[in-house]
Amino acid sequence: MNNISFADLNLAPEILRALTESGYTIPTPIQAQAIPLVLDGCDLMAGAQTGTGKTAAFALPMLQKLLPFASASPSPARHAVRALILVPTRELAIQVEASVKAYAKHSHLRSLVVFGGVDIKTQTPQLRAGVEVLVATPGRLLDHIEQKSVQLNQVQMLVLDEADRMLDMGFMPDLKRILALLPKQRQNLMFSATFSAEIKKLSAEFLVNPRLIEVARSNAASENITQKVYLAGHAEKHALLAQLLRGSDARQALVFTKTKLTASRIARQLQREGFAADAIHGDKSQLERMQALDAFKSGKVTVLIATDVAARGLDIDQLPLVINYEIPSAAEDYVHRIGRTGRAGAYGVAISLVAPEEEKYLVEIEKLIKCQIQRAEPLPPPVAVRAERSEPHHVKIRAPHIGSSKKPVHDAWFNKPYEPSIGASTRVNEPVAAKVSGRQIPALFVRRKVVEENN
Ligand code: AMP
Repeated sequence: MNNISFADLNLAPEILRALTESGYTIPTPIQAQAIPLVLDGCDLMAGAQTGTGKTAAFALPMLQKLLPFASASPSPARHAVRALILVPTRELAIQVEASVKAYAKHSHLRSLVVFGGVDIKTQTPQLRAGVEVLVATPGRLLDHIEQKSVQLNQVQMLVLDEADRMLDMGFMPDLKRILALLPKQRQNLMFSATFSAEIKKLSAEFLVNPRLIEVARSNAASENITQKVYLAGHAEKHALLAQLLRGSDARQALVFTKTKLTASRIARQLQREGFAADAIHGDKSQLERMQALDAFKSGKVTVLIATDVAARGLDIDQLPLVINYEIPSAAEDYVHRIGRTGRAGAYGVAISLVAPEEEKYLVEIEKLIKCQIQRAEPLPPPVAVRAERSEPHHVKIRAPHIGSSKKPVHDAWFNKPYEPSIGASTRVNEPVAAKVSGRQIPALFVRRKVVEENN
């Protein structure tokens, strides 16, 4: 199974070309399993999380099946909606449609994404112009149906992506209304990270003799992801977070919180402390969320704070560090969160800050991932250090409460000339990793407070 290529899966040349251009060489396990079944016309119930390649697992065979309908004609009548992909969030919608577009780029198949929170009028003309693949959040799709800007009577394939999340978000009534409008004869594909009783019920209702595939949950405790827990009370978490961020050599970090309020608060506090931080959550406008995401993707923002819902569908390659500021009460969410790092063979770190009252959730998580997460040693408390200047780039640092305060305990070199005003308290903005009494002091400690000592 492992050594098969995309060509072995009987995909059309125009799709294979797009895959090569996307840099895909071999199918992921879910793709290898799902693609032949979907091409065969089976209904599918697939257990797979974001990061496994599930989007291509349904999008590639879908496009292949729609190729006979591809048309260069501008007439809307030649571009009926033939595949409908329903997703729970706007971010996931955008992500999925971008993938579909990339895979379909050498065909005349059209795709479009519609989601709420933006002016419906901007979506209507594109929808009326006709598309074969429509990616939508349920609420906005219903709005378009009511406005008669879309017809669904030609839909032959339906995908429910992240179905468990759709149920959690209360989309069941909307889903039922939409499904009632689709032709009875169609292929149904359902993707879900979990197989709860509710999901099984939904699958029994909407799928016909579904084939079941599940890719290993091993992702949860992927060997590529180092997982660590720091035990810390709520009051200590912020300082610890800042300390971890400064001490880490990761370029970027995604920080999860339970609530929108905490996400905003942390982002503001980190900004004040000099971090390029931003928050992404459901209360922000679509534009703000997209801007924050773009800034994160381009590296302008280095710390992105997100709630679980907002983080759905975020596709950021090679994210090195995920921090759970609060651990989730649903163990599956932990798996989703840490799956943001260690993707596609890359190496990642997932750190959780766990308060005493959260330990019960940790127990559930460890049960689910079937392994005990390493408890990290508490970090040494931040130290105030004093620095004296000898040369423009060179600073001797004293840490008064470690060993003797008479001798400088560390010589630090800065990238830029270090010239604080004489006698003043100053902040040294260059990171300095110091060894004090044989103990590694992360950059943060030295950076926090440097008091210039004149002579
Ligand atoms: P998904 O699970 O669909 O969100 O995909 C996760 C990430 O893996 C996305 O960035 C995809 O572009 C990427 N991806 C999917 N399939 C492959 C593949 N066969 N080879 C390399 N990257 C892939």
